[in-house]
This record gives sequence, C-alpha cells and structure tokens, in this order.
Amino acid sequence: MPNEMGAPQKRLLIMPKKNACCGDGANTLILACSGASNVGQISNSVMVEMNKKGLGSAYCLAGLGAGLPSFVENSKATKVILIDGCPVACGKVTLEKYGIEPKEHYVITELGIKKSHSFADLEAETNKALKQIVKNS
Ligand code: SF4
Repeated sequence: MPNEMGAPQKRLLIMPKKNACCGDGANTLILACSGASNVGQISNSVMVEMNKKGLGSAYCLAGLGAGLPSFVENSKATKVILIDGCPVACGKVTLEKYGIEPKEHYVITELGIKKSHSFADLEAETNKALKQIVKNS
C-alpha cells in the first residue's frame, strides 16, 4: 500500500527470537490446560496466581502442544508443575508426547470442584483450588 508520498510502504516484520516467550530461564515452569470449561479456566487462573506468588513462571502449554522446539527444550530442562482441569488430562498427555514427567501434577476436579460450562463461580472456585495446591507446592 503506498504512503502519502506515493512511495510503496515497507512492512515492518518483527520476528520473535527463537526462545522468546514467557518463562524462559525460569527454574520452575507452570503449565495449565486452560480448557474451555470452568475447571480448565480455573487451571489457568491457578497458574497465574502461582506465578504471582513466585512459585514458578507461567508457561505456554499451547507452544508445547504445537511441538515448537524451544518450548519442548525448555520444558525438558526445567521442573514442571502441571495443572489439568479434569481427568482427560490434556496437559499430561501433551507432556507424555515428549517424555516429560511433571514434578507436580494437579487435577482441578480432584480438588472438590465439579466440571461444568458455567463460569459464574470462577473466582471462588479458583481460590478453593489454589489453597489446596499451594499447601502442597
Ligand atoms: S484436561 Fe479437561 S478441562 Fe483441561 S483441556 Fe482437557 S478436557 Fe478440557
């Protein structure tokens, strides 16, 4: 598309650095399934709260699921805390694809929270899960 001077406009492409993502260099990575249910979203909120408490660095399970080499390498080289929403355990299955064993694995439905597609009580349910997880971390 030409600029106001009539010259063709150059597009600025910003390429990400190979390992440029949240969590790089962290001693502990926290991954969550972040699924589309209350418990999936609670797993994500718990990950964020644990990051805020300094218990580890939130990391992208999607990057690992996509098989991006830097995500796989980082996850293999570091202690991983994994939070799944329900027993389908998408996060655990993803880690297994790359032979990664999490040091800690939590399943939100095992913490007294029923899976549903209602997002009405996310804050209270997140606090309930967080209390139990942080006690064990
Ligand atoms: S573990 Fe359960 S809540 Fe999480 S993404 Fe898989 S099916 Fe959804």
